[in-house]
Amino acid sequence: MFDLVIANGTLVTAEATVQADLGLSNGRVAAVGKRLVGLETIDATGLWVLPGALDEHVHLQMPLGDVRSSDDFYSGTVAAACGGTTTIVDFAEPKPDQTLVEAQAARRAEAEGKVVIDYGLHMTLSRADDETLAQIPASIKAGSASFKMYMAYDRLRLDDGGLLRALAALREHGGRPLIHAENHHAILYLTALALREGRTGPENHPLTRPAVMEAEAIHRLLALAHVTGTPLVLAHLSCALGLEEVRAARARGQTVWVETCPQYLLLDEKEYRRPGFEAAKFVMAPPPRTAADRAALWAGLAASEINTVATDHCPFFYETDKMRGRDDFSRIPGGAPGIETRLTLLYTHGVRAGRLSPQRWVEVCCTEPARRFGLWPRKGTLAVGSDADVVIFDPERQVTLSYATLHQNVDYCPYEGWEVQGYPTTVLSRGDVIALNGEFVGQAGRGRFLSSRPLPGR
Ligand SMILES: [Zn+2]
Repeated sequence: MFDLVIANGTLVTAEATVQADLGLSNGRVAAVGKRLVGLETIDATGLWVLPGALDEHVHLQMPLGDVRSSDDFYSGTVAAACGGTTTIVDFAEPKPDQTLVEAQAARRAEAEGKVVIDYGLHMTLSRADDETLAQIPASIKAGSASFKMYMAYDRLRLDDGGLLRALAALREHGGRPLIHAENHHAILYLTALALREGRTGPENHPLTRPAVMEAEAIHRLLALAHVTGTPLVLAHLSCALGLEEVRAARARGQTVWVETCPQYLLLDEKEYRRPGFEAAKFVMAPPPRTAADRAALWAGLAASEINTVATDHCPFFYETDKMRGRDDFSRIPGGAPGIETRLTLLYTHGVRAGRLSPQRWVEVCCTEPARRFGLWPRKGTLAVGSDADVVIFDPERQVTLSYATLHQNVDYCPYEGWEVQGYPTTVLSRGDVIALNGEFVGQAGRGRFLSSRPLPGR
C-alpha cells in the first residue's frame, strides 16, 4: 500500500510515454505499474504525469546596485511551483571579504524559511586568484559543484587570463563551469557611442550587444576551454552564430552543453520597437535576436545541439525599477520574469507546434538540467527511488498568460495576453501537493538545499 497513487495517467519521461500508475511513498517514487493501491489516490485520467521541472538558472532577490530582483525566495518559488517547476538552481555571489563557503552559507540563510521547493546554488567565481581558486574543493564539498563565470559586467567578469586559470582549476576538481559569454569591451564601446550620440532610449540596448560579439565571446571561451580541456555549460545562448561556434568546438572533440531560454525561442527584436519606454521590459542580456535566430535555436533544441531550457528569471518592476533608466538605457536593470511560464510555453510552442516530442520537452525542461547540475536521478525523472517531484499536466487546458494572474512578484509579463494550451493542474514536491489548479497550497520554508555532485572521472 503506497502513501499516494497517481492513477490512470500518461507517464511522460525523457525515455518514453506510457500508460501507468505511479506509486509514491515517503516522499519518493516507489513504483511504476498497473492497478497500484494507495492510502490516497489522484485520478489522472486524460492527464499527463511528468517529473517536476528543474530550472537551473534563476536570480531571486539578487542585488544589482541599489535595487534587487523583485521575487524573493518565497514569491519566486511559489511562482515556480504553480508553473510546474519543483527545483531551482540560484547563485551565491561572494562579497569581496567572503570565502566561497561563507557566501554559500549566507545565501542559504536568505533562502531558509522562505523557499517552498528544493534548491541548489551555483557558486559565482568573480575572482580567479590563487586564494579563491584554492577554495573550489571546499565549495564542492559544501554542495556547490557548479561555478558561474561572467565574461561581461565590471564587478563580476573574469578576463581571459582569469578564465584560463579558473577553467584549469575546475577541470582538476571536477567543477561544472556555467558561463555567460558576451564581449565586455564591445558593450562598453557601443553603449558610450550611443549615449554620446544622444541615443538614450531602451531600443538602443540590443544594438550595444550584437550577436556577432556574443559569438566572438563564445568562440574565445571555447578556445580557452580547449586549452585547459574543461567541459562546460554555455548559459543562455541567443543566436545562430553562437551555435555555429559550439558546433566547431564539438567537431574538434570538446564537450560543451548549451542552455537557451524561452525568451530567445519566442521573442525577438520586434519587442524593442514597442512605443514609449515599453522596450525596457525586454532589456536583458543577451537580448532576444531575430526570427532567423529563433528558428535556428528551435532546430538546435530538437536536434539535441541545445541541451536545456532555463529561464534566467530576474524580474524588476517596470513602473519603478526599469524607469530608473528613463533618460539612459544603460541604467535600466537587466532581466525579465519567466520562472512560472517555462513549462507551458515550451509545451505550447514546442510540443503542440510539432517542434518537440513530448519526451524531448520533458528532457530539456526536467531531465537534462538535473543531469547537468549533478542532481539526476534524484531529480528530473520518475524512476523508483527518485524524489516524488511530480507534475500532473492537462495537455488541453487553455490559459491566457497575464502578470495579474501569475504569481511572479512583478508588474508585467513578457508574454502578456499570450494564449497557451497545456498547464499543470497538480504539482507535488517530495510527495506533498504544493500547487493545485494554479494556486499554491504548500508551506513556506519547506524546500531543502540540494548538493550538486562534481563531474565524474576526476
Ligand atoms: Zn543569469
